[in-house]
Formats: sequence, structure tokens, C-alpha cells
Amino acid sequence: MGEGRIVKALSGYYYVENENGIFQCRGRGNFRKRKITPLVGDWVEFEAENRTDGYVLEVHDRKNELVRPPISNVEQAILVFSTDEPSFSPILLDKFLVHVEANHIEPIICLSKIDLLSDTEEIKRYEDIYRNLGYEVINTSIYLQETIESLRPYLVQKVSVFAGQSGVGKSSLLNALNPNLNLETNEISKSLGRGKHTTRHVELIPIDGGGYVADTPGFSSLDFQGMEVEDLSMYFPEMRTRINDCKFRGCMHINEPKCAVRDAVQSGDIAEHRYDNYKQFLDEIKSQKRRY
Ligand code: GDP
Ligand code: ZN
Repeated sequence: MGEGRIVKALSGYYYVENENGIFQCRGRGNFRKRKITPLVGDWVEFEAENRTDGYVLEVHDRKNELVRPPISNVEQAILVFSTDEPSFSPILLDKFLVHVEANHIEPIICLSKIDLLSDTEEIKRYEDIYRNLGYEVINTSIYLQETIESLRPYLVQKVSVFAGQSGVGKSSLLNALNPNLNLETNEISKSLGRGKHTTRHVELIPIDGGGYVADTPGFSSLDFQGMEVEDLSMYFPEMRTRINDCKFRGCMHINEPKCAVRDAVQSGDIAEHRYDNYKQFLDEIKSQKRRY
């Protein structure tokens, strides 16, 4: 028996990788009684029958689990936001950050297509805000190889997913990082007249130096299902650190007196757009709850 990680799942087979290679496995064992379906990313116990085939016997507890695409134990999300075409959206970035924080995933903010940027002033201002929150921010362009190389070290020894809206350059970045990958980019799929959202299986691509990156973008759905309004400020680092200074326990930072968060917005210590987005997400969570 040995331990390995599922790097691909296809047609009822789980492809389990360990130091001896990749084994094509069927499921067998107790986890099936517990109604657990193995996911790409899972650490499993498996029995090799020979050098290429085996059985998954047990699925280890997951650190986290994404639904779309189905993948587990993701450690890091590269949040790709183009600086232009489509233009940078701070509210969407904050939404991604909330989802990533809620799933205990480390975010890297990747501002892509910097070759298209003529006026860097506004982007720089945002970069500073997010860096001050403790987030890593990097700039990339698929036309500037040194920026691709600056992204690479972040991927080593981790399991990462790329995330971000359609057209920001996720597939292009993955291709630039892994020249033999050849993922379809927007341009190509358009010229072939194919729909963008062809369903495909998820696969973990090995990274030089160890680690994996998922070949399918993560967080393709960003609804707030399952999130409680009380928890939202925990996913904003600048609010999380101030919660204990609010006068009332369970302060939602809306109109309660002596609220440390609102004070910080007033004094400029918390960026206004971040606070506005917080309020917007609160409303979204509430209206979502009403619908169910
Ligand atoms: P995805 O939907 O996020 O996977 O985006 P794609 O990788 O399909 O890229 C969308 C479009 O942006 C394509 O036409 C790419 O050629 C283009 N693109 C991607 N990266 C860059 C970049 O760094 N600079 C420029 N100028 N265009 C890019
Ligand atoms: Zn408060």
C-alpha cells in the first residue's frame, strides 16, 4: 500500500501519482460506503497491482474542496486581472479575494497584459492598496518573458489554480509557463467558432521543481452560498484585525456606534472602495439567503 495524489480523474479511473510514477486506479474500499467521491487533488491510500494499475483504498481528509471545477487541497490561487481588455475590476477582485480567503487558499494577485497599459497611475494606486493588505501583487505579460519567469517561483511546491474572468489571459499564462501544454485560448476558440465553455476534466499539471497547477480555472462560480453575513468581515484582512476594537461584539460595521472599521474608513486607513464592496457583498449574501 502507498500514498499518492490524484492528478486526474477520467471515465471512472483515478490517476494517482507518487514517486514511482502515475497509476491508473479504480475505486475500492471504505470511502465508497461513506459516499466520498475521490477528487483531483486528493491524497489517497492506494494499492498498486503492478507498475501501472491499482486501487484507491482510502481518501484522506481534505483541506478544502472547490465545486467548480471539482478539485481539492488547493493551496494557492493566482487571481488574474488584466489591466486592460477587459479593464481592471476592483469589485471582482475583492469578490475573488473573499472566496479565496473563505476557502483557506493563499491568493496571488496577478495583473496581466501590462504591455497594453499606457497610464500606469491608477493601477499603481491599487497595487499599493493590496500590497499594504499583505497580498502579493505581480505584473505579467505573455509578451514579456521576464514577467512569466517572475511568476514561476510562486508556483513551485504548491498546488495552484488560476482564477479570473474570461479573457484576462489565464490560458495564455498557463501556456507561457508550460510551452507543451497548448491550452485553447480565446482567440483560437473564437476563430474555430466553438463555444468557450466546453466542459473538460480537471488535470493537475506538474511544475518544474515540484508542485502542480490545475489546467482549468478555479472559482468559476462566485455566489455567496453558504457564507454567513457575520463571517464576511473575517475575509477582509483590514477588518479582521480591527474587529476586536469595535464596541459591540458582532458589529457588522454598518451603523453601530464606536465602530473601529468605520473609523478607519473615515481616517483613510481602510480604502473606501474596499468598504463599499464589503457592504455590497453583505447585501448580496442577504438577498441570496432570502431566495433559498
Ligand atoms: P482566458 O479566458 O482568461 O483564458 O484568456 P485567454 O488566455 O484566452 O486570452 C484572452 C485574449 O487575451 C487572447 O486574445 C490572448 O491572446 C490575449 N492575451 C493574453 N495575455 C495577454 C497579454 O499578456 N498581453 C496582451 N496584449 N494580450 C494577451
Ligand atoms: Zn464595527
